[in-house]
Amino acid sequence: MKRLRISKQIRPYARVVVWALTIFVAGRFFGLLIGNGVTDLANVDASYENASLPMDARIEDLLSRMTTEEKVGQMALVEKDSLWFRSDIARYGIGGILSGAGAGPDENTPEAWFAMVNGFQRDALENRLHIPMLYGVDAVHGNANVIGATVFPHAIGLGAGGDAELVRRIGAITANELVATGIHWNFAPSVDVVEDTRWGRTYETFGSNSETVARLGAAYLQGLQSETPGGGRVIGTAKHYLGTGAMTWGTSGNPDFHIDQGVTDVDEATLRETHLPPFAAAVNEGVSCVMVGHAAWNGIEMAANRFLLTNVLKGELGFDGFVVSDWYGVYEIPGGEYHAVVEAVNAGVDMVMLPYDYVSFVGYVERALANGDIAAERVDDAVRRILRAKFVVGLFDASLAEAADRSGFGSAEHRLVAREAVRKSLVLLKDDGAALPIRADADRIVVGGSAADNIGRQSGGWTVEWQGIDGNWIPGTTILQGLRDFVSPETSVAYSLTGEFPSGDGLADVGIAVVGESPYAEGWGDDAHPALSEEDLRTITRVKAASKTLVVVIVSGRPLDIAAEAAGWDAVVAAWLPGTEGQGVADVLFGAYPFTGTLPIEWKL
Ligand code: BGC
Repeated sequence: MKRLRISKQIRPYARVVVWALTIFVAGRFFGLLIGNGVTDLANVDASYENASLPMDARIEDLLSRMTTEEKVGQMALVEKDSLWFRSDIARYGIGGILSGAGAGPDENTPEAWFAMVNGFQRDALENRLHIPMLYGVDAVHGNANVIGATVFPHAIGLGAGGDAELVRRIGAITANELVATGIHWNFAPSVDVVEDTRWGRTYETFGSNSETVARLGAAYLQGLQSETPGGGRVIGTAKHYLGTGAMTWGTSGNPDFHIDQGVTDVDEATLRETHLPPFAAAVNEGVSCVMVGHAAWNGIEMAANRFLLTNVLKGELGFDGFVVSDWYGVYEIPGGEYHAVVEAVNAGVDMVMLPYDYVSFVGYVERALANGDIAAERVDDAVRRILRAKFVVGLFDASLAEAADRSGFGSAEHRLVAREAVRKSLVLLKDDGAALPIRADADRIVVGGSAADNIGRQSGGWTVEWQGIDGNWIPGTTILQGLRDFVSPETSVAYSLTGEFPSGDGLADVGIAVVGESPYAEGWGDDAHPALSEEDLRTITRVKAASKTLVVVIVSGRPLDIAAEAAGWDAVVAAWLPGTEGQGVADVLFGAYPFTGTLPIEWKL
């Protein structure tokens, strides 16, 4: 998907246009000044910079001052490492910059993130009209790109919890930790309704019940888009419009994937009944951005679907925010790049996540405007929507934060909310012999398994790196540590990764095997048969042999096929991908809190 950059052929032409316009605007300015005196001086005040005016008046004022070139630049969303020169941000008036997952500053600290984003903003403000850029990241389970952030359970666990008020608080904390790093745009929540759990993005969703997805997605946005305690704001992104959770296995356009970026094969009635309501709920909640998915429907790439983007989303649902396309998604529209850009913009895409080659993109749109392939009104509409989001988060009034309040970042208070989310997410899949709750004063407990002592595994994908991490090098508490912290001082908790315990020690009262999937993201997680690994199954067998009662805790982004084995286990708990606060698992296993989670998707035992 990485493409070669083309040369900047349009620059000489663009420079002439800029000079001509500058002379024209300067002429107008001095003409007004000399001809009409003081009153007109007031008229040429940059009223879009006047915070006391209504937002719509500010937007229209700014739009009226912008050149075509400046407008087109606003429609470009560029990955931070794809900028040729930092000065290009101002030169092209680039509307948005993003960190692809895992792309942070050299030193991964909140301070360095803040300095990096502020630095980009400083460069952006060098443009003629000082229009700020929006910086976006995937903070899909907390601001988890950043080491030290509070990492919440992935959405599938929140779907199991079903607690909208809790999800609202998680959204608000995420906003707080984003603003602490200077970021005002989150590519979350996913409001996809998942139908095939072999999909590698199942865990990013609240599950397969459209109503639950709508309710929790709206609650998350309510928290995320509300003002943070320090006064900063973040916009959310409802993604991936539309029907992305209903793609068909084996239809992926990407040779490395199976279902991700595939074809959605459902009729319009199903799209409307099942997949549209969460977007309608997000729009009602005032979501500022909707991201178009990579799927194709009815033979058309979603990014080219004018009916769904313009008629349904903007028309029927009354969405007044901006539509952003997904990573390189526009260029998946067949027919060549120029044609793809024309199709997408005319279909209703307002900002294009290129994310690489902004120079060609700007050239395509300018050419399309000159050719009449894209109407000037369409560009105005797109830019108006983008500018509105920037006004909403207050970027025109405080684009460069001198300092951010980082007191909440990864704080104990935030982690307590994550811990609450973990315990509410747990689902008791079976408990034949009343193995649960475990007595915290049992003499001896043995613990084993690949996910018992591994924060990376319990956090899943989109944690520090796109595909997640392995091991214990970010702050948090492993599930094992949580168990150890919970038991009485007399209880011995022995741990072995592979479940090997000396037979001379006799049988433990309880054996806990914590097993599951290793991290993955997007199409790399597409799996024809999600199941436990042979290694995990061997570990479970050993833990079982070493204890009187066996409890299996499954850490996974989706249901795993355990039908053949589960009969031999006393109790099975689905823990999903709990994030950094593993103590929440102990809270429920030891009975301090009851199991309240229910399955957000079907899990056949
Ligand atoms: C994903 C989006 C994500 C975007 C930016 C894409 O590959 O599909 O969900 O927001 O990348 O990282």
